[in-house]
Amino acid sequence: KDSSFLKLGEEFLVYGSSPSVDLIIENKRPVSVDFNSKKLKDKLNIYANKVVLIDLKTTDISKVSSFIKLLIEKEITPKLFIIQNCGKLQFPIGRNNIKFPIIELRDKVIKKKIDYLELSVKSKWEENYMTQNVWGMVEGKSKKDSFFVFTAHYDHLGKIGEDCYFPGANDNASGVAVLLDMAKYFSQNPSDYSIVFIFTTAEEVGLLGSKYAAENPLIELDKIKFLFNLDMCGTGSGGIALINGKKETKASDLFMSINQDKLYFNEIRIGGESCNSDHCPFVMKGVPALFLFTFGCEYNEYHTVSDNGKGLSFTKHLDFCNILKDFIEEYN
Ligand SMILES: [Zn+2]
Repeated sequence: KDSSFLKLGEEFLVYGSSPSVDLIIENKRPVSVDFNSKKLKDKLNIYANKVVLIDLKTTDISKVSSFIKLLIEKEITPKLFIIQNCGKLQFPIGRNNIKFPIIELRDKVIKKKIDYLELSVKSKWEENYMTQNVWGMVEGKSKKDSFFVFTAHYDHLGKIGEDCYFPGANDNASGVAVLLDMAKYFSQNPSDYSIVFIFTTAEEVGLLGSKYAAENPLIELDKIKFLFNLDMCGTGSGGIALINGKKETKASDLFMSINQDKLYFNEIRIGGESCNSDHCPFVMKGVPALFLFTFGCEYNEYHTVSDNGKGLSFTKHLDFCNILKDFIEEYN
């Protein structure tokens, strides 16, 4: 009661899907969850209207997420759901509207009971929020009707209230920076092919912008020679990864052979299919595509308030742009 406010984004976080609440919890024992219990699913009622406490030291976040889903499905509504996390707090953006508040607490150890906790959340669910994709094109010299496409989401997780802001420097201003440099390059040095740039929106809430773009394309999808999705490209000391590279073997082989020749990266990692960024809706429409990102331990902010660009080195930015230019030059 005597302690000060916890700092939103650093010491605690509210899940984006939490409802509005004003709560005071005093002198209360939270209920813990035994994920190893076989009877967990049969005893969900014990969590109704209770303060539920989970320590991420004892389980992993995927189990917690499934448990939350289960509570929602069975319409069990705890009073408050607390996740203790000693790592960096990553904002789970609201993808649905749920009936109980979920918070993450960092470095605050709750032992047997909560002496005093006050939580005030004002939340508004907007069903049809309007936003935009932005398309651009540099027309090709000789094969105008054949396209190389670049995508990168230009927005991120947004804000919680007025003061807690998730800038998304690496995720994904860094990808946008690559697109802008490629646009500048190709406008000065046009390719034979037309080069299309799609700056997508609402990737973080479930690839909504790229889904819309793939459903309502401004060019014919079957005229796309290749699509590159860039998401988190500000590092590179380790190398680059090509998601969907195991399926797109011809493209992966070309990236590997260019790299053998020019020695841009220490490593090119070839990944399998994964619907984890904006390439996915296009892949599902049959467009040949890769999701490319850089990796390296020079920067480790992901979905935190500290992904603000401080320490983001753009280690391999020029090499990354160059390998993409070489690819377009050589791919046929
Ligand atoms: Zn991203």
